[in-house]
Amino acid sequence: MTISRLFLITGVSSGFGRALAQAALADGHRVVGTVRHVEAAEAFQMLAPGRAFARLLDVTDFEAIAPLVDEVEATLGPIGVLANNAGYGHEGVMEESPLEDLRRQFDVNVFGAVAMMRAVLPHMRVRRSGRILNITSMGGFITMPGIAYYCGSKFALEGISETVGKEVRDLGIHVTAVAPGSFRTDWAGRSMVRAPRAIGDYDALFDPLRQRRQEVSGHQLGNPEKAARAMMQLIDCEAPPAHLLLGSDALALARDKLQALERDIARWETLTRSTDG
Ligand code: NAP
Repeated sequence: MTISRLFLITGVSSGFGRALAQAALADGHRVVGTVRHVEAAEAFQMLAPGRAFARLLDVTDFEAIAPLVDEVEATLGPIGVLANNAGYGHEGVMEESPLEDLRRQFDVNVFGAVAMMRAVLPHMRVRRSGRILNITSMGGFITMPGIAYYCGSKFALEGISETVGKEVRDLGIHVTAVAPGSFRTDWAGRSMVRAPRAIGDYDALFDPLRQRRQEVSGHQLGNPEKAARAMMQLIDCEAPPAHLLLGSDALALARDKLQALERDIARWETLTRSTDG
């Protein structure tokens, strides 16, 4: 029998956040979903009146996060699952992308998620129980030109997620970094921030990548509802993994990277070992 839990999911207006919320509600759980607009809040609560609760939050409003989590715990009960989903992709060649874009990318994708974990963990620790899903990306393990800031943010969240998982595993709390490949959400559409083009030297490399990403948006291989069902399996699993890839594209690219890494490590092993002593 499935235990009814309270989920806290950031960014439930569309995409993975919305799909995960719907899957959790369908399984009889209660869900607190964060959104950034009143209309989105109303639409979310309509999904399951009395079991779907919206809260307004921009995850870069760091000061607001702990009070929000404390209020949810006080009024709705113990948060069993935190899903750090809110995030977006910055696209642009690094040299063309202002540092301010990097800061914003990290504020949302990394600092926001960390602030959420820091606010929820005190409650989960007391109970010696809890699940945290951090939605990272295959771009937190493999890289491609034109999304340096995004990959940087997702590598950061992967690393923090894995480390926190080691810190809290003896306290009854499981942390999984969920790394999807390309899925049919608003990620490459309305949500993407695209740096303007400026340097002709990158035209040949970057223009086809940008064009392709725009063409493919909405037709990606991955189905967010199926991703949500996969994530729900983690919630009920006794020993969830520290990392989970989602999608055959992510799987193939991650395996290619592992092989390339292994080859490089072997090729340079003598030089690597030469610094001991
Ligand atoms: P999406 O449909 O664009 O959803 C993104 C969600 O994040 C929206 O609810 C959005 O709210 C929210 N959000 C963005 N910035 C926020 C902020 N500052 N504060 C609070 N909420 C914010 O795209 P998605 O693909 O589902 O994205 C969810 C997560 O999956 C992201 O972390 C993304 O990087 C990751 N991901 C996506 C893919 C993919 O192919 N789709 C692959 C790997 C990883 P608004 O509606 O208010 O904008």
